[in-house]
Amino acid sequence: MQAWREENAPVIVAAEGFHLIDEEGRRYLDGHSSLWCNVHGHRVPAIDEAIRQQIDRVSHTTLLGLANDRAAELAAELVRRAPSGLNKVFYSDDGSTAVEAAMKVAWQYHRQKPRPEPRDLFVGLGSAYHGDTIGAVSVGGIDTFHAIYGGMTFSTLRLPSPTALRRPPGTTADEYLAHCGEMMERTIEEHAQRIAAVIVEPLVQAAAGVLVHPRGYLARLRAVTARHGIPLIADEVAVGFGRTGALFACEQEDVAPDLLCLSKGITGGYLPLAATLCTDKIESAFLGHPSEGRTFYHGHTYTGNPLACAASLASLRLFDENRVLENVAVLADELRQQLAPLVAHRHVGEIRQCGIMVGIEFVADREKLEPFSATRRLGHQLTLACRRRGVILRNIGDVLVLWPAPAMPRELVRQLVDVVRASVEEVLGKSE
Ligand SMILES: *Cc1c(COP(=O)(O)O)cnc(C)c1O
Repeated sequence: MQAWREENAPVIVAAEGFHLIDEEGRRYLDGHSSLWCNVHGHRVPAIDEAIRQQIDRVSHTTLLGLANDRAAELAAELVRRAPSGLNKVFYSDDGSTAVEAAMKVAWQYHRQKPRPEPRDLFVGLGSAYHGDTIGAVSVGGIDTFHAIYGGMTFSTLRLPSPTALRRPPGTTADEYLAHCGEMMERTIEEHAQRIAAVIVEPLVQAAAGVLVHPRGYLARLRAVTARHGIPLIADEVAVGFGRTGALFACEQEDVAPDLLCLSKGITGGYLPLAATLCTDKIESAFLGHPSEGRTFYHGHTYTGNPLACAASLASLRLFDENRVLENVAVLADELRQQLAPLVAHRHVGEIRQCGIMVGIEFVADREKLEPFSATRRLGHQLTLACRRRGVILRNIGDVLVLWPAPAMPRELVRQLVDVVRASVEEVLGKSE
């Protein structure tokens, strides 16, 4: 807060398409999709209209003991589009609550399934981010965000994050990635009887700085968990809704998880809403006469909010009408081509990309992969340089994150990368 106060951050008062407008009338390209949420741009007529029409009917009621038509329609649409077997939808308000719900469902499932087991261990990945509530923090693996809460969290098992840049000296990237895959299988097999669920961000660990997993890792994780009857929780809060080029990242490796967490892009980035999807098999463990006490006693007040569900339905329709996933493929190519010259820059450690999610990691010394001093706040300086050129981006440490909206026109993505390149040159000099 101290640094932010001194900085005079823009106060956003409006938006138009893919641009944000501040109180002084300055326009900025929204280069991080308003924190990974926005899909079709801002003030999209079809979504605006859907929300207005819903306001004229009802803005909020409750899903406790009642239903609402918008929430029911959206549940059907999500089930229709999700990986096969995910037939039931539990609503909440944000990514963290979607994850908390998934973890509690998995926990309770083992205690109420036909042959109950007291499974008590959750498994996550190093460098994982699943949200800021205590369950989500417990399976998180980013020390900067999580370490201080060590005393509040419960203990979990950590699998090594399969990311080559963090490999120990003396091993090649391929060797290290193979090692991570083996460690994952071995650890899960060893503790299989105690594991309540394994949680993973499919393909990309976003908040860790867009760490892209090697192809096949997710499918391998699915295979080993399935072999041992361990529910797999796919946290697609960041990667879902088009970012990888498929509607859901799990599709890229033909994986159907047992639980799927969705939020951020679910309403096109308009309103807070989340969904936790699960299989019939999991849901059936919660059925029975109310007096049996099999109820999932977890409910958030604004669950299934009709305005948010109306926005979400309109956003899903636009995915089809505007062929948004095809646009993502075009944007992914554009990003790769336009960013290629930066790969050679002497302070670029790695450019990681999956679909339209990009992380550019800057290092002081490329040979030794030595980071810049934290006091320099290099990543932050780069975002300020971008902002002066009319682009809003965010950094995670010294990783600059590019996260354009799936429906952004190609010319704007080109402009985004032009600004990034110019800003890197300003802050770090030319390549040599
Ligand atoms: C952002 C994020 C969350 C948390 O979502 P909130 O809406 O901020 O609670 C959870 N998981 C992943 C992968 C995320 O990127």
